[in-house]
Amino acid sequence: MDGRKWHRTKQIRSLMKDWRMRRREDGRSAAYLVAMVLCSSCLLAVAAGSRQEFHEDAGSRERSRLAWKAIDEYLMPFVEKEKYELPSKCRLHPGNDMFREQEQHKIHFDINEWRCGFCKKAFRAEKFLDQHFENRHKNLVDNSHGRCLADLCGALHCDLMLEFKKPKSKCSASAAARNRHLCESLADSCFPINHGPSASRLHEFFLRQFCDAHTCNRGSKPFPKGGRKETNRFYLALCALIVRNEERNWHRFELFV
Ligand SMILES: [Zn+2]
Repeated sequence: MDGRKWHRTKQIRSLMKDWRMRRREDGRSAAYLVAMVLCSSCLLAVAAGSRQEFHEDAGSRERSRLAWKAIDEYLMPFVEKEKYELPSKCRLHPGNDMFREQEQHKIHFDINEWRCGFCKKAFRAEKFLDQHFENRHKNLVDNSHGRCLADLCGALHCDLMLEFKKPKSKCSASAAARNRHLCESLADSCFPINHGPSASRLHEFFLRQFCDAHTCNRGSKPFPKGGRKETNRFYLALCALIVRNEERNWHRFELFV
């Protein structure tokens, strides 16, 4: 082997050595990278787990709020009209809503100003006040069995109370039957038919207003008897009509003067 050839072979060998070392280093950094990815995904999973926990709780508060909205709008006006008192064992009784006391201590000043009625602390949005209740005033929540209104959402058509309604999913006959059963048991415990004529009338009303729609037949819709909102809308329309008439009268009066 002449000097030049030997030199080239040495160069190639050193290049090969270099390449092997880099490959080993690359391998090590790849392993390091894989470990990092695994670790961070573990951390993310843990974080997601705790977030999930928070969301579940926030979810039940939110769903309870929707359930209360359905009760308040589509049941209470009729209960008040009958001057009927819901029995304490009725799960729709305001005293059986574990979030009621906190909800009643929400002070809503403005679109961006919410206050805690217990300690007067101010918040930019309702969700922060909800979180504050969760952190500071949890002792006021009695979540013993049967006090979570969110559990009644299936019977009370909570999804219809959402501001942005979910797209309709395919009707499941078994879910409809389950919701109907829950709905009828609410009618029985809240308006026992042997508790006088008002209870009897409301029992019938509750079945028509809430329970009949738990079917996959398209015919029956929830809340066929209307609710508080409709009444408000009627009064608003009436007020607008009166104001318009008054304005017209004023205009006529001005023409004569
Ligand atoms: Zn507070």
